[in-house]
Amino acid sequence: MLDVILRFQMRSLCAVSIACLFSVTCAAKSPHPDKSHHTKDGFKNIYAYEEPGFFDFLRWRWNRLWKKTPSPEDYGFPLAKNDPPFLRFNREKITLTWIGHATVLLQLDGKNILTDPHFSKRASPLQWIGPKRLIAPGLALNDVPPIDIVIVSHDHYDSLDKETVVKLYERQGGQDTTFFVPVGFKDSFKRLGISQVVELDWWDQYDGKDLKIIAVPVHHWSKRHLFAQNKTLWAGWVIQSLDFRFFFCGDSGYTPLFKEIGQKLGPFDLSAIPIGAYEPRWFMRYYHLSPEEAVQVHLDIGSKKSVAIHWGTFILTDEPLDEPPQRLEKARKEKGLPEHEFLVLKHGETIMLD
Ligand code: ZN
Repeated sequence: MLDVILRFQMRSLCAVSIACLFSVTCAAKSPHPDKSHHTKDGFKNIYAYEEPGFFDFLRWRWNRLWKKTPSPEDYGFPLAKNDPPFLRFNREKITLTWIGHATVLLQLDGKNILTDPHFSKRASPLQWIGPKRLIAPGLALNDVPPIDIVIVSHDHYDSLDKETVVKLYERQGGQDTTFFVPVGFKDSFKRLGISQVVELDWWDQYDGKDLKIIAVPVHHWSKRHLFAQNKTLWAGWVIQSLDFRFFFCGDSGYTPLFKEIGQKLGPFDLSAIPIGAYEPRWFMRYYHLSPEEAVQVHLDIGSKKSVAIHWGTFILTDEPLDEPPQRLEKARKEKGLPEHEFLVLKHGETIMLD
C-alpha cells in the first residue's frame, strides 16, 4: 500500500499540469476577432472537440493507480553512436539527429537548429520528482554544435526545459542563438535574460537571410503553472530553405489542420512527428497522436521522409514505452509505406539527407 501511495504521489506531480487544464474553461471574448484562436486572455484550439473534463482526468489517474503501467526498469534503449566532431564542423550536409523525446538537431543551409531542447534529468518543475529521463540525451549538451536557432513548440515541461534553454544561451555567451517561440513567451524568456526571441502567431512567417520560419496551428494546450491555462500559444513549425522544407509537429491531437498545413506549405522533404504518449486513448486522443495517426499526418502533409519523436524518453502516459514503434511499423505497412519513409531512430542517431 505504501508503494501505491508513494507511486501516487510521484505521479501526481507529473499529472498536476494536466489536471489544472481541466479545472477551468475559457469562454472569454477575443480582442482579435480575426483570429479565432485568441481569447480575451489567452488562446484556444480551432476545433472545439468535446474534450475531457476534470473528472475524466481523475478517472484516468485512478485507473492508472491500480494497473501495471510502465516503469523505468522495464526498458533499456540503446544509444546510437554519432559523430560530434562532424556535427560541429558540418555546414554543408543536411542532417537530422534525434537527441531524445522532441529534441532534434537539424542542420540545414549551414545552420544548426534545435527543437524543444531538453537535456535535463526530469520533465518536471523539480529535478527530484516527476517523469524521469530513461536514457541519456543522444548527444550530450557539450557535444551539441553552436546553435543558431532554437524552436519551442509549447510550454509543457517535456517540451520547454528552461534549465536547458538557459544553458544553451549562456554556453554561447548569449550570442548568435535566436529563440523562436509561439505568442506569449517573450516576457518569460526576458526574465531568463534572453532577449533574442522571435514570437510568432499561427501562420506568421519570419523571413531570415537564408531560412523562412513559420509557426503553424496544431491541436494542443498549454499550462506551466496552476493558474496559467492556455496563456501561451502552442504551435508546430515549418522551416524552409530555398530547396528544402522541414516540418516539426510539436505536440498535437489529430485534426484536419494537417491537411491544411500540407496544402499551404507542403510537401515536406523531412518531418519530425510524435508517435508516443497516446494511452488511454479516450483521454489522450485530443492532445497526442497515436502511431496510426502519425502515419496519417505524414500523408496529410505530403512528407517525403518522417522521423518519429516524442517517445521512448520519459514515461508520461499509460502505453508500454516500446509499443509506439511496433504500432508505427504496422500502420506504415498497412498504408504501403516503405521503412525509409517513416523512420524510428535510436537516441542519438544521425541521418543524412541528399
Ligand atoms: Zn504537451
